Amino acid sequence: MKIHEYQAKKIFSKYNIPTPTEILCYTPQEVKQATLKFNENVIIKAQVQVGGRGKAGGVKLAKNPDEAEQFGTQILGMNIKGLTVEKVLVSEAIDIKSEYYVGITNDRNSKSIVFMVSSAGGIDIEEVAKTTPEKIYKLYVNPFDGGLFDFQARNLAFKIFDDIKIVRQVAKIIQNLYRCYIENDASLAEINPLVLDKKGNVLALDAKINFDDNALYRHPDIEKMREILPDEEKEMEAKSKGLSYIRLNGNIGCMVNGAGLAMATMDLVKLYGGEPANFLDIGGSSNPQKVIDAMNILLSDKNVKAVMINIFGGITRCDDVAKGLVEALNTLKVDIPIVIRLTGTNEEAAHNILKESKLILATSMAEAAQTAINLTKN
Ligand code: GDP
Ligand code: MN
Repeated sequence: MKIHEYQAKKIFSKYNIPTPTEILCYTPQEVKQATLKFNENVIIKAQVQVGGRGKAGGVKLAKNPDEAEQFGTQILGMNIKGLTVEKVLVSEAIDIKSEYYVGITNDRNSKSIVFMVSSAGGIDIEEVAKTTPEKIYKLYVNPFDGGLFDFQARNLAFKIFDDIKIVRQVAKIIQNLYRCYIENDASLAEINPLVLDKKGNVLALDAKINFDDNALYRHPDIEKMREILPDEEKEMEAKSKGLSYIRLNGNIGCMVNGAGLAMATMDLVKLYGGEPANFLDIGGSSNPQKVIDAMNILLSDKNVKAVMINIFGGITRCDDVAKGLVEALNTLKVDIPIVIRLTGTNEEAAHNILKESKLILATSMAEAAQTAINLTKN
């Protein structure tokens, strides 16, 4: 789960990570009022849950309240990478001396946590990672091995600063960011840029925290911050109905029981040259309502040109599933071909039921995938 910069900064504050003084605003008038409180230059920042706001024109420096109001008008309502800006952060403008990058995430390869720091911070860190990766220092930390030691935090800080007074500030920020990451079950915590201002203070000018969805039940306060993005609506609807659905870009809708089989099904579609439209695990039940819900979600994607159903009846009986499917399809108007592979307990009975339906029966996963792919070509 993602949150906004202003929310991430509130969490940072709880962990004593310094951030600029800021006010959240919803209208250009509020922006003007907020600016009056600062008595100096302000930065107006679009609050949308994507990166690259600066480059998209969503971060502006205003020199007086009227200018701030103008920028507020410009940025509120702006579309950044498909998201509409509904609120802006008005922030005291910091006199930046230099910009840095500090981030922490899970690293699957090393099966540990990785800290990354760079003195090439600012808006183009992805480009730095691609073209000059040597400018990013990494430290792998095993959370079960004592966590992040003070000397390690200091060493990391020394990679990007040499003045001991600043190194001490930065080492503290690094330790606090680590605690923030661990205690909140985050999957990413990033400060880009971390800045050194002209007075010698270090602070987080931007903040990003992503959370592990599977751990959110331990953090109801964080869960409450969720704002459902347009492309997540269907996924949330599916979740509330006990289905796991992830939308993808292809045209073959997949409906499968079991996450492993669903992955294998998508692999097979790819193998034969097709593109899956989604991942959809309906779980182990043959409940017709679940099948109807699954079909509705799957077909809400207008790119879907054929459906491939792949069911393995282990504990679930195939004839129950077949009955559920027939019942479900009777209540839905489906005008695209549906190919089904159904195998396991009571499969003969299931096949007899399906013969009477419009479903196209395949005897293997490979045949089902190939048939579905061919049908999308007609
Ligand atoms: P992002 O583009 O979405 O990552 O937005 P950021 O919050 O990181 O801001 C982008 C850039 O705007 C930063 O790298 C800074 O160069 C600049 N910026 C943001 N806040 C301030 C500020 O208070 N003072 C100055 N001088 N520049 C700022
Ligand atoms: Mn940034």
